[in-house]
Amino acid sequence: MSEQLLPLVVVGGGAAGYFAAIRLAELGAGRRVILLEATQKVLTKVRISGGGRCNVTHHCFDPGTLTANYPRGARELRSCFTRFQPRDTVAWFAARGVQLKTEADGRMFPSTDDSRTISDALELAARQAGVEVRLGASVQAMEPMASLAPMVLPSGGRFKLRLKDGQELVAAAVLLATGSAPAGLQLASNAGHVVEAHVPSLFTFNVKDERISGLAGIAFAEVKLSLGVGGGKERLERSGPLLITHWGLSGPAVLKLSAFGAILLHANAYKAELQINFLPHLNAAQIDLELRRFKQSAAKKQVAKHPPFPELPRRFWQQLVVSLKVDPELVYADMSKADIQRLVVELSQGRYAIIGKGVFKDEFVSAGGVTLKEVDFRRMESRVAPGLYFAGEVLAVDGITGGFNFQAAWTTAWIAATAMAETMEPA
Ligand SMILES: Cc1cc2nc3c(=O)[nH]c(=O)nc-3n(C[C@H](O)[C@H](O)[C@H](O)COP(=O)(O)OP(=O)(O)OC[C@H]3O[C@@H](n4cnc5c(N)ncnc54)[C@H](O)[C@@H]3O)c2cc1C
Repeated sequence: MSEQLLPLVVVGGGAAGYFAAIRLAELGAGRRVILLEATQKVLTKVRISGGGRCNVTHHCFDPGTLTANYPRGARELRSCFTRFQPRDTVAWFAARGVQLKTEADGRMFPSTDDSRTISDALELAARQAGVEVRLGASVQAMEPMASLAPMVLPSGGRFKLRLKDGQELVAAAVLLATGSAPAGLQLASNAGHVVEAHVPSLFTFNVKDERISGLAGIAFAEVKLSLGVGGGKERLERSGPLLITHWGLSGPAVLKLSAFGAILLHANAYKAELQINFLPHLNAAQIDLELRRFKQSAAKKQVAKHPPFPELPRRFWQQLVVSLKVDPELVYADMSKADIQRLVVELSQGRYAIIGKGVFKDEFVSAGGVTLKEVDFRRMESRVAPGLYFAGEVLAVDGITGGFNFQAAWTTAWIAATAMAETMEPA
């Protein structure tokens, strides 16, 4: 078989696989680019992502700041983001007629608010670039063909792929972009890679507690959370908005903690202690002082009906006071030192028991995948099996919610495709 005729094969028709296949085909290198997708539909997650709106990326253009949003993979992605980052994503889509808009929290969506705009743009770009998309093409096995790899390939890679229907395909190089699918991870493992077990990331906390029961929908603009796992030996802290739900707690601060604590929480069967500082801009002494001031200035007002801190939702304050067994009729003037002290503790470090994990419907991501030290992030090429490349969620990289997971997919796909095409350029 002539070396020129061997195609470049991308396994997996998700965000990473599509983006890589398009770049590969656009860069040319005189080879066919074949994209193999196991199911009958491509870009499924893109379509359902972000509640059907697709949170494509995040308005954060500084590589260092950007990496802080990746609980796993931050170090490896740092230099990748100097090569392809959210600004490049915005430009890539703009060049294909898709405008992205930025929401107040930095998340970027297509201006149409419709994920189809993104999947259509990717499908059109792939067609125009000449990518051959094969559906129902599940790769079952991948063998390095050392015997067929002559010296002409600088990285020496060449693989025989076997599909579910028994067909075989010989590839000059292979990009694995199979997401978190076990079949794809098995291919990586068979190629000699260590695969880290998948555990959920980005979830809500189940909390059953009288202080928040019946308050679903109440939100706090900014709290500071401190998660204690394994008897409080390890603590993780994150700040941000908090939302009370029917099952417990959610909102950006919780989702961030769930991502950074994903492995610890999994190891502890999702049992942990959460401390909530509802007034993070004040320290305990300042809260105490404010309550005492209120005792003077609002002496005749009922404690339960008049929250002294405007940022506290009134219903939450009422329920908190009642749950502390403070007489609902009590007026500020009659509040005891002990009452004040209990409120200070509740507001600055209220303790809540996490009893399980819930589901964050807008985005599902898991931690785990191909271990990172076996991948050369300058090329996204395997250090174990030359000629094999990785992009997207198949890697042990994951981000918090906000467009960071797609950005990791675009970036790693772009780098992998660039490296693959360079390797294939005729000498
Ligand atoms: C409900 C939901 C909402 C989300 N919303 C967002 C969001 O708004 N913003 C964001 O940044 N992230 C979001 N994410 C995360 C994001 O979708 C993923 O990070 C991203 O899709 C990963 O892309 P990927 O191409 O690596 O993997 P995938 O999108 O999972 O694609 C992998 C593809 O490979 C195929 N495949 C697997 N094995 C084989 C095989 N053996 N042979 C052939 N094909 C195979 C699969 O069928 C699949 O099509 C969301 C995830 C979910 C589930």
